[in-house]
Amino acid sequence: MKPACFLDRDGVIVDDVNYLSDPSQLKLIDGAAAAIAKLNQAGVPAIVITNQSGVARGMFTEERVDQIHRALGHMLLPFDARIDAYYVCPHHPTEGTGDYVRTCDCRKPEPGMLLQAAKEHGIELETSFFIGDMQSDMEAASRAGCTGILVRSEIDVSDAAGITARDLAAAIEHCLPLLLLKAR
Ligand SMILES: [Mg+2]
Ligand SMILES: [Zn+2]
Repeated sequence: MKPACFLDRDGVIVDDVNYLSDPSQLKLIDGAAAAIAKLNQAGVPAIVITNQSGVARGMFTEERVDQIHRALGHMLLPFDARIDAYYVCPHHPTEGTGDYVRTCDCRKPEPGMLLQAAKEHGIELETSFFIGDMQSDMEAASRAGCTGILVRSEIDVSDAAGITARDLAAAIEHCLPLLLLKAR
């Protein structure tokens, strides 16, 4: 069992453009790729945990989400950075049509994606971190039993649980020494 660094995607790794639906909209946030490379070099799994209710809303398909993640992978390559796994919730409890409209256990703040990732990758949640930019990310982290780090948030951080950091680079600078300590 080893710790991982879970990462929200929109607003953490790439600019949050509200329902990102095309690879051309991907814009890496300054320092994010280099920070992910540090996790890779340290042997800490970097795992994306993302709500994509645009799928339920019929704005784009799951295949498109995969395509976007392949494009993101290509953008990270020049930095020697890679995402080890992606977990995506395509659901929404009320919006959209068809099977995607349901109350699921994966949509953050539910911890389902974190629990599934932990199971599939042999991750110890107690020593893992989840870096996100929304209160729902922090809530998912605490429900899964890992430590949340809130970044780049416009929300009032005074009532945010856990740690705050300027951006992904600062958050990884904070948690990497702790992850390394626990990885051994
Ligand atoms: Mg986000
Ligand atoms: Zn879901």
